[in-house]
Amino acid sequence: MKNNLTRLTDSVSAIKTDFLFKTRLLPTHVFVLETKNGLILFDTGSPGSGKMIVESLKEAGFDPGSIRAICLSHWHRDHAGSLGEITGLVKPASGVDIFIGRPDLPLLTAQRPRILRFHPFLNIPVRHRPGRLPSPSNSRLIPLDSAGYATLDRKYGIKAIPTPGHTPGHTAYLHRETGSLFSGCALSLLNRDIVGMVPIFHDRKEQIRSGQRLAELDFRYLFPVHMFLRTDEIPLAKRLPCTGKKGIMARLMGNHLFFRYGEHAE
Ligand SMILES: [Zn+2]
Ligand SMILES: [Zn+2]
Repeated sequence: MKNNLTRLTDSVSAIKTDFLFKTRLLPTHVFVLETKNGLILFDTGSPGSGKMIVESLKEAGFDPGSIRAICLSHWHRDHAGSLGEITGLVKPASGVDIFIGRPDLPLLTAQRPRILRFHPFLNIPVRHRPGRLPSPSNSRLIPLDSAGYATLDRKYGIKAIPTPGHTPGHTAYLHRETGSLFSGCALSLLNRDIVGMVPIFHDRKEQIRSGQRLAELDFRYLFPVHMFLRTDEIPLAKRLPCTGKKGIMARLMGNHLFFRYGEHAE
């Protein structure tokens, strides 16, 4: 894997890690947020990405030792895979705070695969494996219960938004100061313009409800982990309804659509 880091906004960068199912349809991004208290990562890519992530940070002029927190969207291996590698490599003196949705914590710590469903009508079973656990000597796993929410908000200015459906404890994160929404797998750009949701789920109804809640949330930037990425602002006024043939095809594929990027209606 080649080092890479792209600056997206003044405070957010993305590192592209390997591709799920070895296709370019599902690139996996690790997001880096610069704050006055240090760096915060959102997800960690698949196992084996840790060294490249740390090297990419160094190459771009960041100090990996200043990573203070990692916010996990969910327990799957392509999101939590390099957790142990990253925390092991950077070994910050104060340890890294790792946040994860309360219902996903036991799924991560159990360290065994589970079955999810693919496609809302076909319901094809797919096996998902968990990410690798970090060492307690250099990190703390913090479940997002009421104390966890308060800690994340107070220390880092980030609001955790429970978005169950893809997994029971899937969580999106809103950085209040910059209006950046790190949506994990709860909202994805299915192509350059259309924002929808991937057809892999633990509970489809909950997944749609969660996606809808995010689609109506007042954020400025959307940073989904897989597929396409845009760096322009998408406030509520720029979100247009999805209509037309493209929409029909996406629905047949089992995708659920929420909105598309449009120009500002002044
Ligand atoms: Zn997943
Ligand atoms: Zn994923």
